[in-house]
Amino acid sequence: MILTREGPQNPSVPGSATAYAMSGFENSFDMHDFKKNLKVKVMSCTDELLRVDVSGIDASIANSLRRVMIAEVPTVAIDKVHLWQNTGVIQDEILCHRLGLVPIWVPDIDSIEPAKEEGDDFDVSGAIKFKLHVKCPSNHPKGQSLHVYSKDLKFEPQTKAQQEMVNQPRPVNPDILIAKLRPNQEIECELYCLKGTGRIHAKWSPVCTASYRLMPSVTILQKQSGKAGKELVELCPKKVFDIEDGAAIVARPRDCTACRRCIEEIPEGIVELAKVKDHFIYTIESTGCLPAAEIFARGLGIMKAKCEISRKHLHAFTTGEEPEASEEEAMDTPAGEWEKVDEMKDE
Ligand code: SF4
Repeated sequence: MILTREGPQNPSVPGSATAYAMSGFENSFDMHDFKKNLKVKVMSCTDELLRVDVSGIDASIANSLRRVMIAEVPTVAIDKVHLWQNTGVIQDEILCHRLGLVPIWVPDIDSIEPAKEEGDDFDVSGAIKFKLHVKCPSNHPKGQSLHVYSKDLKFEPQTKAQQEMVNQPRPVNPDILIAKLRPNQEIECELYCLKGTGRIHAKWSPVCTASYRLMPSVTILQKQSGKAGKELVELCPKKVFDIEDGAAIVARPRDCTACRRCIEEIPEGIVELAKVKDHFIYTIESTGCLPAAEIFARGLGIMKAKCEISRKHLHAFTTGEEPEASEEEAMDTPAGEWEKVDEMKDE
């Protein structure tokens, strides 16, 4: 895809097998070619942020993976609040909403069953429970508020297994401001966490952002040396160009943000700006519920399971047999998929 002064050229990706039939080219999907061209390269990886390049895939697959990471990787969040006392200025429903948005870390997400009952029938006996009880003393310094932070959420084990946990569930960050109380104001509540996914509510989404951009391709078509080269280097706000042997070269094409200055502010035909249509640069920023690399790996596992379900249904459709798998199966994270994360990190 070429970026010109008028706009992008050739942005579409022909998916049909007969797209180039008139020219005699075969365009049908080929698993052998797909495997050969698919490349995954981890550029940087911390618990909070993963930058990974995936090339050799179609935009539809890249976007599916992004959406799965946002909306279908399960996490745990506060969902039921038994509010016994709230005399602060924040209304009950707003307070409960704020509490629900606090990211919660649990030691083993797979061991937690999704809640089966809704409403008043919810069985709280085995759920992850926190207690919040804060009161601003009457002698609190005049004119100042008592700040209620996420660290004030105290985990209360409900079962023997929860009591024996070495690493107990906790808010991801202890310093999230929940409310401010004036003297004698009080908040007392019990909070129950449920397992869910971002497609039910954004509070269950494991990511702050999961986005991708296409790999930029910058080419100098006419050699720019001397003053013209220096001007080109200074023109670029992301320092994509450098001077080598007296002439401008493209040193860091990856850093290009496609601001277009190099095609709009110098004569046409000197620089060609393009995007590689099958090379995606993912940025996955975790809320802290799960390590960023685990979110990526779990997303891949869920996509794989969905493909398997589709394959079984297609097989059943063509043979007239009953499908072996239900649609709900596609929602389950396949156990063990994300255990390959450590290997991926090492690579
Ligand atoms: S489009 Fe902008 S960021 Fe990219 S190379 Fe040109 S001037 Fe630099």
